[in-house]
Amino acid sequence: MSQHIRACPFCGKTETYMLKPDCSRTDPKDVGTRAFPYMVCRQCHASVSGQNYDQSGKTAIEAWNTRPLEDDASSLIETLESTITTLYGERCSDTEPGCPICDAWGFVDRLKEDTVE
Ligand SMILES: [Zn+2]
Ligand SMILES: [Zn+2]
Repeated sequence: MSQHIRACPFCGKTETYMLKPDCSRTDPKDVGTRAFPYMVCRQCHASVSGQNYDQSGKTAIEAWNTRPLEDDASSLIETLESTITTLYGERCSDTEPGCPICDAWGFVDRLKEDTVE
């Protein structure tokens, strides 16, 4: 089963790889072996580790995908979008200078550019 892996929070690249633990509970940790899996960004080498003895590496992917700030920002933007829709309605079909509706949506677009992974 494949799982969606988010882009790197530091460089924005999507190429990552996972290293699985190289020892297990039955074949325990020794000098130079690693009990936990981890995810690494190929571009900037940012990494996060999962839980010890997780041979599937699932906990490393979960850790990699956990982005509380990014997720908060996304949900704030969603709230803002629905507020603007309620107040002003949908986007105008043409962008007119000085139009408050276009300004409001333009503001949302700029926020998205800054926060979307
Ligand atoms: Zn990176
Ligand atoms: Zn407009």
